[in-house]
Amino acid sequence: MPLTTRPTGFPGWAAAVVALLSLAPAALHLGGADLGLPAAAGPRPVGAMASVVMEWTAALVALSAAALAFAHHLAQGSRVAPVVAAALLCSGMADVLRLLAEFGLVRPAAPEGDAVLATWTMGRLFNSSVLLLGAGLVLWGDRAGWRPGRRPLPAAASVLAAVAAMFAWFSLGFPSLPGLARPDGAVARPWEFYPFLLYFVAGFVFLELRSRTPGAFMSSLVLAALPNMAAQLHMLYGSAAAFDAHFNSAHFLKVVAYAVPLAGIVCEYVHAHGRERENEALLAGTAKSAALGEMASGIAHEINDPLGVVGGYAGVLRIKAEKGELDKDAALDIARKLEGVVERMKAVVLSLRRYSMREDGDAAFEAVPLDRVLGEAFSLGKERFRRHSIDYGADAGGLGGARVLCREVEVSQVMLNLLNNAVDAVRGLGEKWIRVAARARGRLVEIRVTDSGMLRDLKDRGRLFEPFFTTKGRGRGTGLGLSISRNIVESHGGRLRLDAGSERTSFVFTLKRA
Ligand code: ADP
Repeated sequence: MPLTTRPTGFPGWAAAVVALLSLAPAALHLGGADLGLPAAAGPRPVGAMASVVMEWTAALVALSAAALAFAHHLAQGSRVAPVVAAALLCSGMADVLRLLAEFGLVRPAAPEGDAVLATWTMGRLFNSSVLLLGAGLVLWGDRAGWRPGRRPLPAAASVLAAVAAMFAWFSLGFPSLPGLARPDGAVARPWEFYPFLLYFVAGFVFLELRSRTPGAFMSSLVLAALPNMAAQLHMLYGSAAAFDAHFNSAHFLKVVAYAVPLAGIVCEYVHAHGRERENEALLAGTAKSAALGEMASGIAHEINDPLGVVGGYAGVLRIKAEKGELDKDAALDIARKLEGVVERMKAVVLSLRRYSMREDGDAAFEAVPLDRVLGEAFSLGKERFRRHSIDYGADAGGLGGARVLCREVEVSQVMLNLLNNAVDAVRGLGEKWIRVAARARGRLVEIRVTDSGMLRDLKDRGRLFEPFFTTKGRGRGTGLGLSISRNIVESHGGRLRLDAGSERTSFVFTLKRA
């Protein structure tokens, strides 16, 4: 199964909910429901309070969606996300300004109704223009192959938001704001037409962008055009005064429109997380097969050599028999040597069998005698030591009777990897030796595999533990031995490292004492 990278769509049911919500206020209105609120009644006008709640929600949703869009941009490199963030920040700023006016922290020169409208119109104009302009730029950049860096975009978005806030601020400074509303005309608020048009066109630009980079976020942007346009229609044709039915419907739809991209990003994250888990499971499987491959290639060496020896003795036997020189002593000598070789092969096959019977990483730890760990390492490597005339020595450092807590087969694999690497490193040298030494370090046992290679000759020291880093050429090294070994040691609660202070190449790992 390949690693999963497929994009995710916006769920169909959620799209249907957004479409229904976009139509709901109009439907309720047509059905005779009154969604208006009294502008001034009682000591604390309900209309004003409802307006604060709506603006508060709008500002919160806009600002959190903007923050999430920035995060999406930084994490995924999406170029549309900062555009959306900038657009949301612009209208979010206008909403915040209106809240400040509502709380009396800024005093608009215009009458309250006008001031409320001014912040709405400024917010919507900025939001829709930034969306269309930004989306257009991204589309143009896609076609022209222009890719701006990641960092400048959030900064540009913040500047835009500041400009939007300034405009909204200035608009509050005018004592009267002509042209925002014309309650007597067929079109109640002519200014609302421009955002409507911009959202409409932006919807198509996002549709085109979505066909290039599909995903839940892009789909949500196409979908957000619905509540955005519906909100504008309520303002354009219906709303005659602040807090009337269409005014409230438009504010509700604005919140829906802000929330849709937020839902899109959340969808992408939920899916991305699921994909990550699938891929992790796949990678774990790959690492297991790679580990098996490493082990198998190490063991193939061990079997190949004795097979050569068996072949050699068979030849001697045949020649002696042909010449009539096969007396009892000669036959016994050859038989004993063959038995020795078969014993060695049996030990190797036993290790392989134990490895293949290994359950998985959750197998229980056992208290294994340190001598056995060191002995097993020697039995796995001795054929190669002999063939390349490498002097091998192991020293339990006075810990002869000690036991270590480990999964035995995994630790033999670590030893086998380290020894194979050491053999490969020294076999072409004049001085050829490998030493394995153990010593106690508090509750830990430190096992050190040193070879006669000089550390100063070791190139790319910082990369040795990287998966797939190998200097052994095609078909000889996988580059996984050290990274798998490190994982194994860490899963035992220990550490595997290259000793940077040693004169010779020396790898050290720790295990817990039983
Ligand atoms: P592989 O053995 O398949 O190349 P490893 O992860 O085991 O993969 O090792 C990565 C690289 O680290 C090796 O290709 C080799 O260049 C280097 N290396 C590992 N052990 C030694 C050593 N004892 N001496 C010199 N180089 C080593």
